[in-house]
Amino acid sequence: MVYRAEDTLIIYGLTPGLIDSAPIQKSLTDFCKKKKSMVSSDRFNLIMFLKNGPNYLENFTLNPDHIPIALKSLEEDLVRGNISAGIFLAIKLIIEVFKTISERSFHLVIILDSQSNDIPNDKVPVLINLINKVKEMPLVIDMISINTGNLFDGSKFKKIAEKSGGDLYSIKKVKELSSILNILAEKKEVSAFSAFEESVTHISEENFPFYENFAEIPLDIEEMRTCSICYQKDINLVQCTKCKTYAHKNCWALWSKTVHFGIPNVFRCHICFNLLKLDKDLVEMVHSGILIYEEPQLEDVQKYIDDIKVINVENYIQSLEAQEGPKVVQIEYPDINLTVKDDDITIIIDDE
Ligand SMILES: [Zn+2]
Ligand SMILES: [Zn+2]
Repeated sequence: MVYRAEDTLIIYGLTPGLIDSAPIQKSLTDFCKKKKSMVSSDRFNLIMFLKNGPNYLENFTLNPDHIPIALKSLEEDLVRGNISAGIFLAIKLIIEVFKTISERSFHLVIILDSQSNDIPNDKVPVLINLINKVKEMPLVIDMISINTGNLFDGSKFKKIAEKSGGDLYSIKKVKELSSILNILAEKKEVSAFSAFEESVTHISEENFPFYENFAEIPLDIEEMRTCSICYQKDINLVQCTKCKTYAHKNCWALWSKTVHFGIPNVFRCHICFNLLKLDKDLVEMVHSGILIYEEPQLEDVQKYIDDIKVINVENYIQSLEAQEGPKVVQIEYPDINLTVKDDDITIIIDDE
């Protein structure tokens, strides 16, 4: 069986001093190692709650050993988990990855206890709305609550987990944690497909504007440059916002037809996977064989498109790994903010 590589983000929302943390940290370490042994390009991240705000690893890491290291180094300064702030931050971090790397699925695993902050009522519809969109990346949220005898109402947590296709698991004893995590480690998308064919993620049409909003418009260049697809020199090229590769709009419009992101005018750069978009009308015309720009001719471009050597995602992921391991970064609580625009289709996660 071939598994799709996954980026897992753990929200460690346990209340300090309530439960012995050593067996929990061991279970989480085993969970990451098991996932890693199943798919070598799986990556990990961790959110913990400290007095000044949530801490997390700057980048998802291929090395599961960084999870217990971060857990141990931050443990002393933990405060009670603000789970809803953690979920917003997690989704923001996951969107950043989705924008620049293809062929992954995302798994948010939240460990909480009966004293974790409940999700405020006004945040529930905002979260549900957001999850309805981001679950198509795909992102699944699973939660495990460790109940220590206090009265615990997990109904809002459960509602949110289920909305994403995940679940809330309630356990009474810490030793039950490892068997739940074992099940979650095996719960994976069993679809494998090539790096640029993501239409299998079934982005529904009502969510097109949300995903289109993540994609960047290639920059206009008014200098003589060589197109990276058809190799013709031209002054009418555009440039990838991330890797600075040049291409004709015609060339990228035809490439977008070949790669099936799921939204016709949205595609990933053939060099760096960055999510890009071109004008809808231009793309539609090129796809139906009509040219706005005379050059290059479509039949010529098609030959070049067929010849594009796609870079290997796994090698690319390896190249992103920081040599000295990921840094722990911290943001302040007020920085996590969701702005839902009036038309209710664009959600901006504000980190100004
Ligand atoms: Zn070209
Ligand atoms: Zn690029």
